[in-house]
Amino acid sequence: MTLKISKQLAPVKPVVNCFGYGNKADSVTIHQTGNTNKGANAKMHAKLQSRVYGASWHWQVDDVEAIQSFEHKVSCYHASDGRGPGNLNSIAIEGCINVDGDYVKTVHNMAELAAKVLKEIGKDTNRLFQHNDFDTKYHKNCPAQIRAGKDGIGWALFVQMVKDNMKGSVVAESAKPPIAKTIDQLANEVIAGKHGSGDVRKKALGSQFVAVQARVNQLIGAKPVNKPLAPAPVKKKYSLPNGVYRVSNPMRHGNDVLQIQLALSSIYFYPNKGAKNNGCDSWYGFDTANAVKRFQLMYGLVADGVYGPATAKKLDSIVNK
Ligand SMILES: [Zn+2]
Repeated sequence: MTLKISKQLAPVKPVVNCFGYGNKADSVTIHQTGNTNKGANAKMHAKLQSRVYGASWHWQVDDVEAIQSFEHKVSCYHASDGRGPGNLNSIAIEGCINVDGDYVKTVHNMAELAAKVLKEIGKDTNRLFQHNDFDTKYHKNCPAQIRAGKDGIGWALFVQMVKDNMKGSVVAESAKPPIAKTIDQLANEVIAGKHGSGDVRKKALGSQFVAVQARVNQLIGAKPVNKPLAPAPVKKKYSLPNGVYRVSNPMRHGNDVLQIQLALSSIYFYPNKGAKNNGCDSWYGFDTANAVKRFQLMYGLVADGVYGPATAKKLDSIVNK
């Protein structure tokens, strides 16, 4: 685990900033702060709570750290459901969206923290909620950016990221939510006319709408107009290999594999987060295949853990831009 975690407890003042003790800690609720201001990071929000604020949440996370403000046994004010199950019995995680932070990294950190808390309270992702799930009165659009699928990370993918972080824990088959369709599958369904158009389509796809629509546009056209002169070749940061890489016996090993691992790690898809060099060891084994798979899921590719031309092309377009 590379996420820096610390505790900076705020005063517990029932009625003023919380409901006091008695939280059953049976679920985790995800929020995003709504504050894009520069410097509105985890430290700032922890400080805000330490001065006794009119709302409260257990954790705040940004692109570098997670800070805990309340013990899990405290019932905070975060879910806008009064003395409902959100406020009384759920653990709140606020993800920061400050412009000077790395948004995607922050969401990865939120997923890592959510996994850690779920494990601690002995629950699976079927007990992972959005603020919106509890707020039946105002229907608060929170976590707004994840709900909108910003940077391709919609709710289904976020849940998958949390599951990946929980890897190794025993999860009952029946407790698992259904596997989400990939962006590509959904895009092809849209093209086949399955999800209608306009608002109907928007509603059908929910948080995946933006990512799916972008993929649809890619698939159905957007032919380059007046191809510009080819730019002078620049030396690429990662020399990604051609060819197909999968887990094999014996395993493939070499600088080509290392380049794949380093490129993935540069955008936080570590083969083995927290291990030496985050698992970048030049071997194409299960950890690397898993990192490839998570990357493929995120970008709507066939998520099979096999590095081939489509994965190479997408990865190249991101890390070598
Ligand atoms: Zn919220």
